[in-house]
Amino acid sequence: MYDHRKLGRELDLFDGDPLMGAGLPFWLPDGAAVRMALEDYVRDVERRNGYRHVYSPIMGKRELYEISGHWDHYRDDMYPPISIGEEQVVLRPSLCPHHALIYRSRGRSYRDLPLRLAELGGMYRSELSGVLGGLTRVRAIQLNDAHIFCTADQAVEEARAALELIAAAHAAMGIKPVRHRLSLPGSSGKYVAVPGLWERAGEMLREVLHDVEYEAVEGEAAFYGPKIDIQIADNLGRESTLSTVQIDLYQPARFDLEYTGPDGARHRPVMVHRSIVGSVERAVAHLIEVHGGAFPAWLAPVQVAVLPLGEDEVAFADGVVRRCADLGLRASLSGPEKGSLGARIREARLAPYQLIVGSREVAAGEVSIRLRDGRKLAALPVGEALAKIGEITSRRGTELW
Ligand SMILES: [Zn+2]
Repeated sequence: MYDHRKLGRELDLFDGDPLMGAGLPFWLPDGAAVRMALEDYVRDVERRNGYRHVYSPIMGKRELYEISGHWDHYRDDMYPPISIGEEQVVLRPSLCPHHALIYRSRGRSYRDLPLRLAELGGMYRSELSGVLGGLTRVRAIQLNDAHIFCTADQAVEEARAALELIAAAHAAMGIKPVRHRLSLPGSSGKYVAVPGLWERAGEMLREVLHDVEYEAVEGEAAFYGPKIDIQIADNLGRESTLSTVQIDLYQPARFDLEYTGPDGARHRPVMVHRSIVGSVERAVAHLIEVHGGAFPAWLAPVQVAVLPLGEDEVAFADGVVRRCADLGLRASLSGPEKGSLGARIREARLAPYQLIVGSREVAAGEVSIRLRDGRKLAALPVGEALAKIGEITSRRGTELW
């Protein structure tokens, strides 16, 4: 495995500047392309699975986090409030309180449930500069989050479906988690004390994990409830949480969330919190380390490198690059001014597809195809080659051809 910080700089994926601040990396164009492909995938998967996307602000009034419990139980990780006149606003430590308010903004009936609200949104963690670095310890986080508001009877099924989405995403990304962890409360005072809450939510999560091998660990729960964490390990074997599924019986009560049941009475929904790929920063850091920069084709910053043999083929090659752009493929031209063909192939070694254009190919309207793993394929008409590459990348698997 590689160090994502070193490789991220070498491959022009991301960097930082002391003037921007510790733990506040910026994304260079190639890194932004990877991130955007990942975000597009997540939104697409969510849309296909009945999630509705929302947007909510990155800050909220201090009172919002007092109600959610963050102010009492999570304040050490939050930024101090910003005073505006008589009000105090805080950079949000999570998206849950905002989504609870969105749920509460309309009357809800059992017919509306499960209501799956998803957002790729910013959240902020106050960490001392000494522990910050790369994309894994950051102060500004873009989280792939969702909250499913459902009846108590639906919660286990919803959580289980979320676990399946997570497994599919990991397969598409070429990621192998090290274990599933059932994170339970410990003895410290950071957990909310509500009689029966921990037992009930814990039982539901054990039911979700019925067919899954997992390890129960005390002291790793969220302050408001137990959770299932899907753990990955970095190049030094250090574990962290990538994806998570939680069943929350606390915040629905704190926000007094309700729905009208078939009996006409008011009932309390359950909130299932889930993240498929976690924060995009951590997910991309892990992708860099696992693949050493040779991302699955659908995630690669440059998917197609077009290499004309000589000056005479540059115009044709440029046309291939433009056709790629029209098809939504990320392509770049590597012309003869950059050196010998061998040198250019080496330079483009991380691009999953290298299309080589000589005089023979120009005459036939074809390209010769070289895959990243060294395989050489027979020449194909340009349209056919690009259609095939487009089909493979839109399927979002790890295979090259
Ligand atoms: Zn949440």
